[in-house]
Amino acid sequence: MNPLVGSQIINNRYNYLFTQNTCLIIRDKIPAYILNIKWCKLLRQHPYLCKMTVKNDVSLKPYNTFGIDVKARYLIEINTVDELNEAVDFKNRNNLPFLILGGGSNVLFTKTFEGVVFLNRIEGLRVVEEDDEQVLLKVAGGMAWPRFVDYCVEKNLGGIENLSLIPGTVGAAPIQNIGAYGTEVKETVVEVEAVDLATGKIKTFSNEACRFGYRSSVFKTRSNRNYFITAVTFELKKNPVVNLSYAPLKHIFQNRDINTVSIAEVGNAVKQIRRSKLPDPDQIGNSGSFFKNPVVGINELEPLKKRYPEIPYFQVDRNSYKLAAGWMIEQCGRKGKRLGDAGVHDKQALVLVNHGNATGSDILDLAMMIKKSVNEKFGIELEFEVNIY
Ligand code: FAD
Ligand code: NAP
Repeated sequence: MNPLVGSQIINNRYNYLFTQNTCLIIRDKIPAYILNIKWCKLLRQHPYLCKMTVKNDVSLKPYNTFGIDVKARYLIEINTVDELNEAVDFKNRNNLPFLILGGGSNVLFTKTFEGVVFLNRIEGLRVVEEDDEQVLLKVAGGMAWPRFVDYCVEKNLGGIENLSLIPGTVGAAPIQNIGAYGTEVKETVVEVEAVDLATGKIKTFSNEACRFGYRSSVFKTRSNRNYFITAVTFELKKNPVVNLSYAPLKHIFQNRDINTVSIAEVGNAVKQIRRSKLPDPDQIGNSGSFFKNPVVGINELEPLKKRYPEIPYFQVDRNSYKLAAGWMIEQCGRKGKRLGDAGVHDKQALVLVNHGNATGSDILDLAMMIKKSVNEKFGIELEFEVNIY
């Protein structure tokens, strides 16, 4: 039972009225009779009310691709930056912890969230600058990433076609510097606009200030967790050169002159490979790769190569090499195995899945077991890519 039901909180700018399932936030001064009405439907029709609704005691199952059924104390869908300010006001007023959520495709919930979830649904896209070579697009953080990629591919704007079909939102893309098939989003990001939820101030991060790395950025550091990414500006090419560096793409286009391959063809090929290999979250819950591929120095790689001559590795820079975590998990005999309803995907061992009724703790227990086996066999400490709450 929501302890605030029936109560009213008033501050300088807003009134908050709580019912069992919602909290209505009312702008400015309102006629007294409104305060006595408890039916949400009637209240919602009143012109003084803003649209923002605070839901309480909400299941997060529809909001995470693992399909984990935990509750959040409050959830607010944010459709505009103004609504974000109102939501922050609500959080501050009630002294609540917050969690920003886009598509929920890179999170694992293990317990009730005793705070307020801000669901980013800010939409919009506009051309900022354009010449014969390129176009700068400013895109709102709540737009679905796959929809944005399809928009660019349709307009023959190149740079992100290899990132087709990655679930989630535009606003979350810079956070772990999403990557696939030899492309990372950092290659096209010009700047990131974010609201500091501690101060309410807007800050713009240049590409350099984002400090992008392999599946990381400045936004993953503890001191920058207060930033809500509201928009990202991208630079897309009007005369794109396709990137077929990854083996499955090379294979598909092996009989073609690379100069004749369009970004639409690459986008479609990426979608085809992904659909054949990765579990669809609508069919089986998952958050993509659960672990990051570890990056090691030559001193760690050499003994591994001696013990496992077939070990796959990829040079990252002069001194570091990326190992394939999925291969290591497979060598530990974990591919396709399950622990109750928590499982390891049978086509890609890097992906953990929810076969139906797994809890977040079931998935986490499985992840810890995998970490332990990889450490015992290879001496490598795997890191989680998925954010655990
Ligand atoms: P969420 O899961 O909602 O959030 C992820 C984290 O970012 C959370 O900590 C959240 O608090 C924070 N966050 C979200 N939005 C904001 C915001 N606006 N401001 C501040 N913080 C925010 N990833 C890849 O890199 N490459 C892939 O190829 C890939 N393939 C995937 C395939 C599948 C089937 C699935 C399920 C996932 C895959 N992922 C991949 C992971 C995931 O899609 C990406 O990390 C994506 O960017 C997450 O976006 P989201 O909106 O769902 O973020
Ligand atoms: P894959 O082709 O089986 O390759 C296995 C691993 O080897 C990948 O993780 C990839 O690293 C690495 N790799 C392969 N070819 C490479 C090359 N030419 N240069 C450098 N590294 C290479 O992988 P997959 O599982 O089918 O995934 C295909 C792509 O989609 C990968 O880029 C992967 O990252 C991406 N993906 C990511 C997620 C996620 O949630 N993060 C989920 C599904 C797919 P990288 O991962 O660094 O590319």
